[in-house]
Amino acid sequence: MDLLVVGTVAFDDVETPLESVKDVLGGSATYFSYAASFFTTVHLVGAVGDDFPQEHLELLGAQGIDFSGVKRIAGKKTFHWSGKYMGAMNAAETLDTQLNVLADYRPELPESYKTTPYVFLANGEPVLQLSVLDQLKENALVVCDTMNLWIDTAPDRLREVLQRVNGLVINEDEAIMLTGRPNILEAADAILGMGPGFVIIKRGEYGSYLRCSEGQFAIPAYPVTSVKDPTGAGDSFAGGVMGSLAAAGATDFASLKKAMAYGTVTASFNVEEFSLGRFQQIARSDLDRRYQEFVEYVSF
Ligand code: AMP
Repeated sequence: MDLLVVGTVAFDDVETPLESVKDVLGGSATYFSYAASFFTTVHLVGAVGDDFPQEHLELLGAQGIDFSGVKRIAGKKTFHWSGKYMGAMNAAETLDTQLNVLADYRPELPESYKTTPYVFLANGEPVLQLSVLDQLKENALVVCDTMNLWIDTAPDRLREVLQRVNGLVINEDEAIMLTGRPNILEAADAILGMGPGFVIIKRGEYGSYLRCSEGQFAIPAYPVTSVKDPTGAGDSFAGGVMGSLAAAGATDFASLKKAMAYGTVTASFNVEEFSLGRFQQIARSDLDRRYQEFVEYVSF
């Protein structure tokens, strides 16, 4: 089934202990859509400025992603994020966020997108996520992501979003920050109390944890020996999860567990290069091969 994603399409500056890059293609919806495109048809909605190269959009188009919902706004600059990783590169430190074109952008979904069965509200301003929720109709599964910036600056709007989605995918430290609880088990319970039917907590190199009414589930990360740039790992994980669910046309507990394994291996490729570099070198068969290795890795 088809998958709709609304989120940021960005230029990123990324500093790691070994290498730095400037103005590379990034954004929550960019990583998500490329990751999900290995599984199903993805419709991408967002906005860029007139500084955004058409080749970047064509790169997504070549992967089968429908980018007709990406609006190019004249006289504005594209969203720009700068971040830095230290040591084991477990968490990004945001150095700067320039909303630019996104400061007053509110997406208008074409009629045909409103009923897309699977929907992901990628990391972005909660007010923008709410404007999408207002337009959605009859969807099978609506899931969102968020981050510390929005927990800090728009907590009330974010609470409204959480009341209206089926699932939340969130980083461990952000889950703790959102709920004020001391560990992920308590944070996950508190998040279910805020509205979502399930929450997946991303724990970087320690894997991910799922909590829903049917129970709980945890898996490690795929063991990657050469992490070059963790940027987009969370979005790629979510893309693999949602892509896998949409392809299966399922939302049950067993399908969620399998989807988390697919999300894990999808993210494991993304961190091996900057930007979409590694994704551009792989095919669905590479994901499936690593998925089988991962199944071996976690079986006993
Ligand atoms: P992650 O998967 O968490 O590493 O996400 C990295 C991507 O998120 C980068 O490519 C950024 O462009 C994007 N990003 C960073 N800050 C924000 C924000 N406040 N809202 C939406 N997207 C963001």
